[in-house]
Amino acid sequence: MNPKKEKTAGMLEKVSSLAKRRGFIYPGSDIYGGLAGTWDYGPLGVELKRNLKNEFWKAMVQSRDDVVGIDAAIVMNPRVWEASGHLDSFSDPLVECKKCHHRFRADQIDTKCPDCGGPLTEPKTFNLMVETYLGVIEGEKLKTYLRGEITQGVHVNFKNVLDSTRMKLPFGVAQVGKAFRNEITPGEFTFRSREFEQMELQFYTKPDMEESMRWFEYWKGERRKWYLSLGLREENLRFKEHGKDQLAHYARAAFDIEYQLESEWKEMEGVHHRGDWDVRRHQEYSKVDLTYFDEETKERFLPFIIETSGGVDRAALFFLVDAYHEEEAKEGEMRTVLKLHPKLAPMKAAVFPLLKNKPELVKLARTIYDDLKKEWMVAWDDRGNIGKRYFAQDEAGTPFCITVDFDSLEKGDVTVRDRDSMKQERVKISDIPAYLRAKLL
Ligand code: ATP
Repeated sequence: MNPKKEKTAGMLEKVSSLAKRRGFIYPGSDIYGGLAGTWDYGPLGVELKRNLKNEFWKAMVQSRDDVVGIDAAIVMNPRVWEASGHLDSFSDPLVECKKCHHRFRADQIDTKCPDCGGPLTEPKTFNLMVETYLGVIEGEKLKTYLRGEITQGVHVNFKNVLDSTRMKLPFGVAQVGKAFRNEITPGEFTFRSREFEQMELQFYTKPDMEESMRWFEYWKGERRKWYLSLGLREENLRFKEHGKDQLAHYARAAFDIEYQLESEWKEMEGVHHRGDWDVRRHQEYSKVDLTYFDEETKERFLPFIIETSGGVDRAALFFLVDAYHEEEAKEGEMRTVLKLHPKLAPMKAAVFPLLKNKPELVKLARTIYDDLKKEWMVAWDDRGNIGKRYFAQDEAGTPFCITVDFDSLEKGDVTVRDRDSMKQERVKISDIPAYLRAKLL
């Protein structure tokens, strides 16, 4: 391992160990020894991912007039994948070590086996589509695929969306959902999985290079702003342009939004100008007219497509890494804290009765907890000393801890402790929901 990789592994190891310990992410099928490239999200992880997807939806669909959403089937007619070119070219070059027989993606390694230094075979192409069979009668089952990307579910519905809504160009269709790839080398925690979720926008414009490139630049900017608005540190984000040799043959322009994982830059999302490739191919293969009729110019044409394609799991991983801090809590005492943006934090607050064995404290704390739970995910903890409870919530990324003490009974207020500054302030019980609402904006 080179020193750069070792450093990255260090951070990923810390985050994956915290993720397992606290219930963010477990290895898939853990008690059976796992299944390479699959991961299960625990009670905190499922909330983090749900918050991420909700924020995507709010920014990309809910707040806009020019984007609608869909949720297409994972399993599609196999002709879709012929049309999209996935059966011919959705592949990676694979090499095998002649000594230890480990397999690698040829484009990710040098000339020798990274595990044992042995010699490698010539690269072979390896299709990434995951095959599956539908139907009940052996021999008559239809061979199809678990979708390798969620993109095609949108393009095959271009006409349906046009016919069932009043959308006019330029407009977009967003989707979030699972995709599957037989990755040759799954790994680096959830970074490269075989089952993962994507969040995408397919934005249709007139087939005009100048206009479509303006939208391309616009969406590049919007997507970067979205990551920054959720707290990713600016110095850890950059755009990387695909060189001419990396561009898909149909692509007119492509940039990756990359995240700096320690000192290595890694793809988090792609912004692509796909020309009219997908709609043209689906029109050709389905024999259904997919042209758009422009009422102003009375012209019919196939639209250009600007795509933004991000990974939900990859983004969740980078948000975890970016939020992970080990720091001095007070002299001689360290804490691990996830400084997640409150919008992404799995639990928005935790409620503690100061002492477990004082029924009047527990009762008041319970009332506050039940009330907050109507609006937010909130944690309850009455075990051990308050310092330990704070540290446990720091590791879970909970932005606020609310403690009910004896003063609360008399004065009707509580202590609210801020995760990042560790500062505490007294807040009236009746003001807690408004206090949280203001902080969670
Ligand atoms: P890579 O070069 O890393 O294999 P890609 O260029 O094939 O990725 P796209 O097909 O553009 O990726 O997919 C869009 C996004 O989906 C990626 O930016 C990434 O966030 C996510 N993604 C792709 N493959 C995986 C995977 N195996 N595991 C997790 N996320 C993935």
